[in-house]
Amino acid sequence: MCREAGIILHTIYDSCPSKMKETSVDGCLYYTFDLWEEPEHATLKSLCLGWARDIDPAVNLSVIDWNGIELRAAERSGALSHDQFVDKIRQLFGGTIEVVDRYVAMHTRIRVRCKTCGYAWNPKPYYLIQGHGCHKCAGLYQGTVVCLETGKEYKNYRQAALAVGLKGSAGIKDACQNPNHTSGGYHWKLR
Ligand SMILES: [Zn+2]
Repeated sequence: MCREAGIILHTIYDSCPSKMKETSVDGCLYYTFDLWEEPEHATLKSLCLGWARDIDPAVNLSVIDWNGIELRAAERSGALSHDQFVDKIRQLFGGTIEVVDRYVAMHTRIRVRCKTCGYAWNPKPYYLIQGHGCHKCAGLYQGTVVCLETGKEYKNYRQAALAVGLKGSAGIKDACQNPNHTSGGYHWKLR
């Protein structure tokens, strides 16, 4: 129907396993990475610009109001408004999680606060909607990971591992939980 009306429907899949590209269907685009996570949304913008230029070759990047496009796209895709999001979070967590920031989009981090323990964090709304609530109350929050040699602090084991060039975070976790153990040539503890 779209084609009859002169509208071309482009379907984009991202975060795909690389195998999917081999079985790709005409008219669909496949990317192995998360397009929304890409800095400045470079690929999405260049795709939009390309399609806009198919219609009018004179389209100029500098005159396109990307914020306006994002806003209208969110509205037309039936995305949640801030109030709808707050409502949904209230239902999901029985009013125990307070939304501090203004909701923008599912993948744009937002400040929230646990009314039970007071812990505040900045999750992607997407994770909240999936039912992941306060880490501290769930006993998953391990504290700040500190490297004793450098004094540097990390939000979690994974970030500490990355910072010292370790492939997995298990060694750092082990070092933190058993203070005699070192990992990656450093001593670690939780604070
Ligand atoms: Zn909590």
